[in-house]
Amino acid sequence: MRVLILGGTAEARDLASALQSHGIHFASSLAGRVSQPRLPVGEVRIGGFGGIAGLEQYLHESGVTHVIDATHPFAATMSRHAAEAASAAHLPLIRLERPGWGTRPDAAHWHWEPDLTAVRTCAEALGTRPFITSGRQTLHAFEAWGDRQVLVRVVEALDAAKPDAWTVIRDRGPYSLHGELTLMRTHGIDVLITKDSGGTYTSAKLDAAQQLGIPVVVLQRPPMSTNARAVTDVEECLTALLA
Ligand code: NAP
Repeated sequence: MRVLILGGTAEARDLASALQSHGIHFASSLAGRVSQPRLPVGEVRIGGFGGIAGLEQYLHESGVTHVIDATHPFAATMSRHAAEAASAAHLPLIRLERPGWGTRPDAAHWHWEPDLTAVRTCAEALGTRPFITSGRQTLHAFEAWGDRQVLVRVVEALDAAKPDAWTVIRDRGPYSLHGELTLMRTHGIDVLITKDSGGTYTSAKLDAAQQLGIPVVVLQRPPMSTNARAVTDVEECLTALLA
C-alpha cells in the first residue's frame, strides 16, 4: 500500500500522523500557496501536479495505490482533479471532508449565500463595518468597498495593494474567543463575512459574533461531484482505508 494524501488542512496532518503510527507507507502533497506551511509528518511534496494528466502521471510513477483527498472544503478544483485522475488510474479514492458549521444552533440565524456576489450584496444590507474572513482568494469580490472601513484577515500577504481605508491583518488559527471579541470590538465590526470552512480552528469568530449580536454572512461550500468514498474524520478515514 502506498497512500497519497492531498493535504493543506489540519485533518490531512492528523491523518499523516495516524498513517505513520500504523506503519502505512504514504506521502503528503501541498499546493505550495503558503510561504511557511505547517508540515505533516513523513514525506512531503510541494506544488501543483500540472492538472489531471499530471496527477495521473504522478500516481503511476510513484506507485500510489490509494488516494485520500483531504484538501480544504473550498479546494474544489483539486478535488475534481483527484476524482478524475484516480478514476482514470483505477485507484480507490477517499474524500476526507470535515463537517460544515450548518449544524450549529446559531447557524439558522446566519445568511447563507451561494456565491461571492450574493455575499457582498447581503453584507451591504446588514452593516457598514465588515470583517472579511473568507480568504485572500475571495477579496476581488469586495473591490467596490474601496472607501469603506473594512477589516480583512488573511494568512498570506495580499498580491495587490489594498485600499487605504482597509485594515489587513495577517494571522492564522486557532483563534480564541477572547481574541475575536477584542478584535471585533476594537474595529467596531457590524457584519462578519466567512465561508463555511467548518472545524474548530477558526470557529471562535462565530461565537464572538453571536455574543456581540453581529450578523453573519456565510459563503456556502461549492458543490462537489466526486466518486470518492466520503468520510468526515481521521478515524473513519483509517477504517475506510484499511477495509
Ligand atoms: P484549488 O483551487 O482546488 O486547486 C488549484 C490548483 O492548486 C490545483 O489544480 C492544483 O494544481 C493545486 N493544488 C491544490 N491543492 C493541492 C495539493 N494538496 N497538492 C498539490 N497541488 C494542489 O485549491 P485552493 O483552494 O487554491 O487550495 C490550495 C491548497 O490550500 C489546498 O491544498 C487546500 O487544501 C489548502 N487550503 C485551501 C483553502 C481554501 O479556502 N481554498 C483554505 C485552507 C487551505 P495542479 O492543477 O497544477 O495540480
